[in-house]
Amino acid sequence: MDHESQIYSRQEIRSRLSRLPRVPVGLLPTPLQECPRLSEALGGPRILVKRDDMTGLAFGGNKTRRLDFVMGDAKQRGCDLIIAGAPLQSNHCRQTAAAANLLGMKAVLVLFGKMGDEMQGNLLLDDLLGAEIVNVEHADLQSVRRFFYEQEEKYRRNGYNPYVLDTLGPSGHFGVLGYVDCTMELSKQFEEQGVTATHIVTPVGSGGTQAGLALGAKLLGASVQVYGVSIRKSKEELTSFITKKSRDTADMLGLDVVLNPEEVVVDDRYVGPGYGVVTDVEREAVRLAARTEALMLDPTYSGKVMGALIDLVKKGRFGPQDTIVFLHTGGTPIIFAKSRALASGTGIHVIAQA
Ligand SMILES: *Cc1c(COP(=O)(O)O)cnc(C)c1O
Repeated sequence: MDHESQIYSRQEIRSRLSRLPRVPVGLLPTPLQECPRLSEALGGPRILVKRDDMTGLAFGGNKTRRLDFVMGDAKQRGCDLIIAGAPLQSNHCRQTAAAANLLGMKAVLVLFGKMGDEMQGNLLLDDLLGAEIVNVEHADLQSVRRFFYEQEEKYRRNGYNPYVLDTLGPSGHFGVLGYVDCTMELSKQFEEQGVTATHIVTPVGSGGTQAGLALGAKLLGASVQVYGVSIRKSKEELTSFITKKSRDTADMLGLDVVLNPEEVVVDDRYVGPGYGVVTDVEREAVRLAARTEALMLDPTYSGKVMGALIDLVKKGRFGPQDTIVFLHTGGTPIIFAKSRALASGTGIHVIAQA
């Protein structure tokens, strides 16, 4: 028999969230912006963008909402140093280093991948923010975690009280909490701005963001569909992760809601040649958003998902009867790290002599 989920008011959900320790490191709420020129260019649905690229932490992004809760937890534990890790051009690490500065904490970033000679994008920002950077050349997210705990040991021996932000481990639920909170923010904006959204389209990396949105919508009993576009992983892997994370988070908040796998919509057809690879799809999407709405998307996440949205409108999956909320998860510093792959060079006219 199916589990009958309960429906909760926004106020009740917010009150559950407010029981958790939290430090507001982001500038919330973020705007919900109409995109009439983009809608017209696509000849399809009404499109609005939820501007989570404007959360304020050193160029913003979706990791900021998670950090409100992470920093609350770290502060409660009396930590004075935070350790996080990810690929070199990590938005997550850049926002973590920024949040650490606001709390007067030291940040240690374990970044994997081969460092070129150019300090650009997120890496430049990490450097400006004063983070300690440990570069592990050959690793992935699983294998690099060992180095988090090595750093923890080292700093503990040196008298620090470190906090390990291990998103594949004990810190995994914070991102989900952040996006349950974002769903409450959206629901209020829908009311105020007279929006009846049919879909929320979001990039999916690990799936924490989508889990939070889907859980938030289900808690409210909202009919909006959360449509995730995978940038890396398979639909199967993400569906099981999102289902599990949303259930754990509901339990943690003491809320009686169970998200079922068939309610999770993940589209993994747009991964393309792989994580972070820029193809015509991303290039054209980044340019279209910039040239219609002056909206800057990054090629790894939001640009890839905008490319998917353009294709889905072409194929009739989304039509004029739909109202789409596109979640801009940030990542804009990556534009500068990918300048060679993105620049067209057209529109430049050199006049050699005055
Ligand atoms: C991390 C990140 C995502 C993915 O979020 P998940 O919660 O891991 O799915 C999407 N977009 C940007 C810009 C990110 O930095």
